[in-house]
Amino acid sequence: MANLSATEISWYYNRLNKCCCRLTKPRRAILDILDDTRKHLSAEQIYKETLKISSNAGLSTIYRNLELLVRIGLTWEFDAGDNKARYEIAKRPGESHHHHLICKKCNSIIDYSASVDNEKDFIKKREKNLSNKYNFKIENHSIDFFGLCYKCSKNK
Ligand SMILES: [Zn+2]
Ligand SMILES: [Zn+2]
Ligand SMILES: [Zn+2]
Repeated sequence: MANLSATEISWYYNRLNKCCCRLTKPRRAILDILDDTRKHLSAEQIYKETLKISSNAGLSTIYRNLELLVRIGLTWEFDAGDNKARYEIAKRPGESHHHHLICKKCNSIIDYSASVDNEKDFIKKREKNLSNKYNFKIENHSIDFFGLCYKCSKNK
């Protein structure tokens, strides 16, 4: 079973509290699963996993809570190109944020961090320009590249 540490729980708890939300059982279960697998799961997959950890929340409850967790920034939602929303845990303090390489054929997802200074600088500058130009306060971003993974491009 997935297990969040006490520090992690209090961190999530505070984040939820700030938005006047409680760390309910289904939310805890979702965070547990996403934190533990570190994978990009669909709502149905998350639902199946919650059943394993003896949560009795229905699929619609999972959907509703995922929506909320995305809204307050604890979970990321993105489309891997198959029109199915995937969810993953948002970064925690001290963790480097990552981007995605998504295979259009097998829908596998590779996480990578913008470790090259050039790329980080570029994104920072871009955010600054955009926020000046449109008077828009940028809080975060997500970058997904689509294409074919090594396996799929070989078996073409
Ligand atoms: Zn980034
Ligand atoms: Zn592939
Ligand atoms: Zn990811």
